[in-house]
Amino acid sequence: MKKRSIVGLGLLSSLFLASCSGIQSLPQGLLPGNNPATVGSFAAGQPKQVVEVRWQNRNQIINMGTAGVDLFGLQPAQKTAKARVTQAEIQAMQAQGIQVSQSREPSMDVRGGLPGGYMTYAQMTEKLKAFAAQYPNLVTLEDVGDTWLKTQGKAPQNDIWSISVTNKQNRTAKPTLMLTAGVHARELAPVEITMRLIEELLSQYGKDPQITELVNTRELVVLPMVNVDGRIQVEQGNSWQRKNLNGSGVDINRNFDAYWNYEGMNVPSSWKNGLLSPGSETYSGPRAASEPETQAVQNMYTRKKITASVDIHAYGDMFFWPIGSSEKPIPEVNIYKNLYNATFGKIGYEGGTSLTLLYPTTGTTDDYGYVKHRAFSMGMEVGSSFRPAYSDVERMWVQHRPLWLNMLNMINTFPARR
Ligand SMILES: [Zn+2]
Repeated sequence: MKKRSIVGLGLLSSLFLASCSGIQSLPQGLLPGNNPATVGSFAAGQPKQVVEVRWQNRNQIINMGTAGVDLFGLQPAQKTAKARVTQAEIQAMQAQGIQVSQSREPSMDVRGGLPGGYMTYAQMTEKLKAFAAQYPNLVTLEDVGDTWLKTQGKAPQNDIWSISVTNKQNRTAKPTLMLTAGVHARELAPVEITMRLIEELLSQYGKDPQITELVNTRELVVLPMVNVDGRIQVEQGNSWQRKNLNGSGVDINRNFDAYWNYEGMNVPSSWKNGLLSPGSETYSGPRAASEPETQAVQNMYTRKKITASVDIHAYGDMFFWPIGSSEKPIPEVNIYKNLYNATFGKIGYEGGTSLTLLYPTTGTTDDYGYVKHRAFSMGMEVGSSFRPAYSDVERMWVQHRPLWLNMLNMINTFPARR
């Protein structure tokens, strides 16, 4: 009987108990009650391996997602994902009926540096400064916050940058699209894609009529690398780094001040297991918006009137709208669906709330923008690896370019929510 050997490891007991409930429908099938042993008990220092997981029912993926299993490359239609897990986690998943098979993530087996073609944080900073110098009438570059390390008096160069692109001479109110990337350090392509979009708008302004019109009448705000401390870890060879550098790391994308830890929501307590465990990749931090990286993004919503926003992650082909922990459509759902159908739905991305596609999320950028600032805020997963070859990023950019331009075009039609 495996039960004795796995109780005590919080994640495992929650997975195991969930499997024992025997009820398949939501939400009754989820783990009731809260076992204190399930909190903060991730075994540190256990060796981890990459596996493929295959689930059959919603309880299984919801339990993996909320337990804080390090899932990535999720494919909701195929009901598969990859995971980086300990042997004990594998046993727990198998005990719940989840199929687990050996897998690999070859691009992560690196000793140092970024794959060829990618820019480092320092190179990105130089490029942003060069844009500001070359296009003073179109660009506003701002240092919008310090990273956690910098707030601790370490890494004095680690600033979070925001770049705005618009025709500054046209001072009429414009709809504004904000993009954030690099919230999760190991996800490399989103940073490059946002930098490509900026470069495209600037270099084609006055040449391409569509781009000229968009830059004259819209504003694009981009924070191309939010988790700078984490990203520098990746650049130094820690290719799996996801969270920020505060303690064992806080997941910035669970730290936002909107339903943080499901505050004010009636959800099964098991949904909080990963959020409450400092060792998990979805640890939500000591309090809402505790992290300076989170505060930097939140402040952008406070300072600027953001019409719509997209927080870009990797990897998978998915397009999310609020509310991450709900299946109930929000009143504006058709506006989101229209945008999705006219953009990333065209290239086969799955669209929906996080819970309808996979498992519940909360304290995310997407929920925060919508709930607290009435922005049309969204999330995305792009690409097919954390570290695609740069030639894949080039291909992705060619595919994305018309979709991003179309999104920028369409935000003009969004009704005011404020
Ligand atoms: Zn991510």
